Amino acid sequence: MRAGPIFDLFLSHFNSGFESVSAILSNLRRWHVILLSFGIGLLSFAAWMTLIEEGTVDPYLEITELRKEIEQIEKPTLSEKDSSIPEKDSTWRTFKVRNGDNLSIIFAKAGFSDRDLYEVVKTSTHGEELSKLYPSHTISFQSDHNGILIGIEHQRSLLESTSYWRVGGSFESKELILTPEKIITWVSARIESSLFLAGQSAGLTHNSIMELANIFGGVIDFFLDPRKGDTIHLVYEQLFLSDKKIGDGDIVAAAFYNRGKEYTAFRYKNSDGDVGYYNAEGVSMRKAFLLAPLDFTRISSNFNPRRLHPIYKTTRPHRGTDYAAPRGTPVYASGDGRVIESGYTKANGKYIVIQHGQKYITKYLHLNRRKVRRGQKVVQSQVIGTVGSTGAATGPHLHYEFLMNGVHRNPRTIHKKLPKAKSLPQKEMQAFQRGIFSAKKQLLVLKEELLIAPKNKTGAAAH
Ligand SMILES: [Zn+2]
Repeated sequence: MRAGPIFDLFLSHFNSGFESVSAILSNLRRWHVILLSFGIGLLSFAAWMTLIEEGTVDPYLEITELRKEIEQIEKPTLSEKDSSIPEKDSTWRTFKVRNGDNLSIIFAKAGFSDRDLYEVVKTSTHGEELSKLYPSHTISFQSDHNGILIGIEHQRSLLESTSYWRVGGSFESKELILTPEKIITWVSARIESSLFLAGQSAGLTHNSIMELANIFGGVIDFFLDPRKGDTIHLVYEQLFLSDKKIGDGDIVAAAFYNRGKEYTAFRYKNSDGDVGYYNAEGVSMRKAFLLAPLDFTRISSNFNPRRLHPIYKTTRPHRGTDYAAPRGTPVYASGDGRVIESGYTKANGKYIVIQHGQKYITKYLHLNRRKVRRGQKVVQSQVIGTVGSTGAATGPHLHYEFLMNGVHRNPRTIHKKLPKAKSLPQKEMQAFQRGIFSAKKQLLVLKEELLIAPKNKTGAAAH
């Protein structure tokens, strides 16, 4: 499983580079080179796509060439030291905040008094914030050769910290918020058993797979729709801090090929600063209703969502969709609305009914837990309960019903009657098309590549 040539290069740099401190520092400068070469890569892509469209180029050869080019540019040759990053030397001692800790306990552990604590909290600008501790935070202390406390660092996350240092009889403080480097990368995956496993084997984080499901939640039912051989293509950000990957950022663009049908989504920030996902025509991906109102990532590899219990093979008409899912799987409100029932009956077990506007009602049955009360307002994708087997159910599953004007309907087949998703206004379209231009090309390249790439066993296709 690989995630794109640029990412591969990072990996190879990691593996080869870190022999000495100076090498680490010099690596910081590589970002300039890497960003530059990414730009060059994009330009080459654009030029190359033009050629492909004219049918003059063998795409496979071109991809190989392009990879070579990027590799050549990427060789790090810089050896300057970057002195802007202060190193914490041995005079610092670090304590991890644990459940039940407070500042006084941590100061005592570090060998400092309540008086020291008082001085820091009362005299520094950010003193009050120091006492807001959560497990996973760290507090580091520095003392001088007489054992006097001279510095404190409160690290709240990889990106946020506050430093305190002694100036005479009081402390000064400064908050530091780091912005991670965002590197665009791209990946393809072919579905063998589930989208979740395909995403995992392609190196996507759980959060990215969830986000992908959220983006397509109005047009794809990730429990019932995916088929073996379907493909996903993703252009997304990876976040780096001082050469270290700290996570994935936003999905920039995504394509899902489901049983020969293509769905694409592009991230776009409109002129009011609102961010949303739209298809290539500028129609919002956010629909009035989710197709499958539950968290599909909870389905494990050996859990077959289509395996239903015999109880459902009865002759009485079945008026909903049954989603077999592990007990405890979060159930979502499929659209914005108000809870009109949250109760229990012998047949339904614990159940919830939501009214959406005048016309629509959704029902969720056999829940293990209910997390909303009657009368409560809910928004789409809000967790309203968990999958269970209460009432007339022999195994854990969600029974979901969708009613329009009081009549049971299949939400998948009455699309045209459902409220229309918002489209971008005409005045945004030019900026939108410009904004998605390169991502569109990248998705196209990924698609072409997967077509010509040999199928491998993991289900993830390399780019
Ligand atoms: Zn049912």
